[in-house]
Amino acid sequence: MSVKGKTAVITGSTSGIGLGIARSLAEAGANVVLNGRKATDEARALRDAISREFGVTVTLVAADLSDPDACAALIAQAGRCDILVNNAGIQHVDAIPEFPRAKWDQILAVNLSSAFHTTAAALPLMRKAGWGRVINISSAHGLTASPYKSAYIAAKHGLVGLSKVAALETAEEPITCNAICPGYVMTPLVESQIPGTMEKYGMTREEVLRDVILTRQPSKKMATVEQLGGTVVFLCSPSADQITGTTISVDGGWTAL
Ligand code: NAD
Repeated sequence: MSVKGKTAVITGSTSGIGLGIARSLAEAGANVVLNGRKATDEARALRDAISREFGVTVTLVAADLSDPDACAALIAQAGRCDILVNNAGIQHVDAIPEFPRAKWDQILAVNLSSAFHTTAAALPLMRKAGWGRVINISSAHGLTASPYKSAYIAAKHGLVGLSKVAALETAEEPITCNAICPGYVMTPLVESQIPGTMEKYGMTREEVLRDVILTRQPSKKMATVEQLGGTVVFLCSPSADQITGTTISVDGGWTAL
């Protein structure tokens, strides 16, 4: 069974990895539901461009996923959800004693709880359709830790655990649930950090990538959003029918260290 004609809901998909995954799924023939916090003109233009380029139906549903009701409403508005990709995520860096309590709550809400709420709303639709895929975008930081990222790392580890539970609850059904754990991926967010670091340390772009950003990524190369999209399309293929309750690392060897 291919993804042609299936409906995929990708959270946080108006930029970066989510947009790359949406484009890959559209290219493979899935109808796509884009989600961003707001329905901006830029997001509407993306919706129209993806639809034109790949000849699939693309809709845009604005929802602030820090709100559990908005998570459920996103799936309800999608109407159908054969493939759910929980991708929305935010970051904040601070030592634990200084970590703002509100930031902890917000990161847990967006990076972890939203995936619980969308999955809870989507599973009944998948069961009705007789097929489903839940794919949670965790991180190398869902399997390892670094200092100062307590909320992000707790949430990303939590996503791995949630994926395992969802897999067990659907194990005898034609539904799978997995987490993808990327290392560094070249997105506008990461790209925007390069010029400042070059200036701060008097380094070239290559030095910043190799010696600052990619210190823990043995390949010394970032993954691309297309590679993440390809991994999602693979998880939606029949070859992946028996892959459930596990993680796929796309991290250039980070977690082999
Ligand atoms: P990004 O900032 O481009 O994408 C994050 C998306 O989440 C955006 O579209 C943003 O609008 C959305 N979002 C944030 N808060 C939201 C909210 N309250 N409601 C709805 N949407 C919201 O960053 P990205 O690098 O593309 O990250 C995508 C995912 O991949 C994140 O979960 C991130 O943790 C994970 N990840 C990224 C990297 C990397 O190197 N870029 C590595 C590992 C994991």
